[in-house]
Amino acid sequence: MSSSSRIPTLTTTHSGVPARLKNEADAAKERLYSLKTLPDSVPRKSNVKLPPNTSQETLDAAITALTKFLGKDGVEINNKPLVDGWYMEHPNTHDAYHVIDQEEMVCSAITYPSSTSEVQAIVKWANEYTIPIWPISMGRNIGYGGAAPRVPGSVVVDLGRNMNKVLKIDGGNATCMVEPGVSYFKLYEEIQKTGLPLWIDTPDLGGGSVLGNAIDRGVGYTPYGDHFANRCGMEVVLPDGSLLRTGMGALPGKNGEDNPTWESFQHAYGPSIDGIFSQSNFGIVTKMGFWLMPASGHQSYMITFPREDDFPQIVEIIRPLALKRVLGNIPQLRHAIQELAVTGQPRTTWYNGPDRFPREVVREGVKKLPVGDVSWVFYGTQYGDEASIFSQLEIIKSAFLSIPGSKFYLPSELPSDHYIHSRVSVCSGVPVLKELDWLNWKPNAAHLFFSPIVPTSSSHAKIIHTLIDRLHEKWGFDTFPTICVAGREMHYIANIVYNRANEDEKRRARGLMREMISEAAKEGFGEYRTHLLFADQVAKTYGWNGGALRRFNETIKDALDPKGILAPGRNGIWPKSYRGKRWELVGEEAKKSVKARL
Ligand code: ADP
Repeated sequence: MSSSSRIPTLTTTHSGVPARLKNEADAAKERLYSLKTLPDSVPRKSNVKLPPNTSQETLDAAITALTKFLGKDGVEINNKPLVDGWYMEHPNTHDAYHVIDQEEMVCSAITYPSSTSEVQAIVKWANEYTIPIWPISMGRNIGYGGAAPRVPGSVVVDLGRNMNKVLKIDGGNATCMVEPGVSYFKLYEEIQKTGLPLWIDTPDLGGGSVLGNAIDRGVGYTPYGDHFANRCGMEVVLPDGSLLRTGMGALPGKNGEDNPTWESFQHAYGPSIDGIFSQSNFGIVTKMGFWLMPASGHQSYMITFPREDDFPQIVEIIRPLALKRVLGNIPQLRHAIQELAVTGQPRTTWYNGPDRFPREVVREGVKKLPVGDVSWVFYGTQYGDEASIFSQLEIIKSAFLSIPGSKFYLPSELPSDHYIHSRVSVCSGVPVLKELDWLNWKPNAAHLFFSPIVPTSSSHAKIIHTLIDRLHEKWGFDTFPTICVAGREMHYIANIVYNRANEDEKRRARGLMREMISEAAKEGFGEYRTHLLFADQVAKTYGWNGGALRRFNETIKDALDPKGILAPGRNGIWPKSYRGKRWELVGEEAKKSVKARL
């Protein structure tokens, strides 16, 4: 795959780029490839990676059996060279942003079901041969493991390729129902075709699966930004192959139809069980309903703050504004270094040293940008009619502008290539690609997110920021903080950008992650989501009462999946047959233990 190869569009594949972003995608790819020094692929060091306790003969027999009911196009052996590609042309065989060796976490084969009943058949097949399976919707879970299975040799169930329909858009009710392969790009385009005044909520990049992101509890930036909270109704294939509908979907509609309130009311009668299918390995979700936001007036804005030390005060100002719901969305507070990174230019544009990007160089760099010499930048959006947006903005301005030297900007006051214009799109439900730009910071760039949940208070903000910055310095990484303040808590997202061609950088990135996880836990901060390599360590930090939560999860896992075939190890949940057998990765021995299984 070279930079000039054609980028698939939405009309040719479910994971393609929409026509409106074709030129932007071409340019993004060109920029990324101009910094690439890695070859597109290298010959494989080993043959097909076998599932645990499975001989080549058993795998061959199992694949032959699977091919019989899925057809030749429904199964693919993973024996070709691994290609990382890039965001819009991503692999379903491994983690394109590998933070250990590219070949360590790979699947043995990929299956492409076309229907829920085929998913059920695959699950029954996996039970018959005791082969672990790893479901993906789009496989673009970048920064968190991509399409890689946690147990090498698992069979990836790529749901998206053939199950990618928007099943329903209900304009009156402002809801939709989607299959796993529907990306934010596709849902947006389908809604535009209807002409209905509805918004979707999109994360920073629009290529992920709407369903996959929601069950991994991803977030976006409109008032509907908590994706799992805005789901309504799920259809789930359980680990024994049986089928379940949650919420009102459990009550059959008239004459065999779907229940008319399936996408309207989240619960059924009895326990609310949807949550156990998010960030877990208890089922494969084949359909999911979502609430959509009625289109609204909106106004994005940016506020800049001059001093590093303004950070705790900014946090104190945000909390009451968020709790009173004056702030219209989940705003982002970013460090000024991000203003440089989002220009899409490489780090070397400003600084050539191998050490950390010096603060004085950030200052010199931003001085030349429209924001000027600032330390923090706040991006927010307000919703409603003109009069209410105006009055909300007056309250917001008077609160923030109490910080000396802070400045307020509207998008119309900034140049057309400024990052704020991409925030305007994202915060009004238009999926974009712009956020890829900071990946040009380093050649062959990949990234990992460290994302602890922290109380929204100045003292806690100081503790976490100091801790993260100190450890970034220790391990030799620039600190890229984005703080998403929900109100009572904030997601502090530290973005570790590393060069995939540099083994030492990868080692340091892992070391930094591991140390941040354990140091943050000592302060009482835990991650809301993590890369699969760190799942065990993060799960272990949630260890109150001798690991009561882990035991509860294991009890459910063993009851639903006695053979342990569904995504073993996902979110640190291991089935009985794997426990106590050194599958858990809680330190750098992690790497040895995965290697030993190759
Ligand atoms: P994205 O939607 O961002 O492209 P993925 O498809 O990789 O992401 O899904 C994100 C995570 O959720 C992965 O860890 C994957 O194992 C899990 N997952 C994705 N789709 C499903 C599904 N339909 N059912 C169960 N788990 C899923």
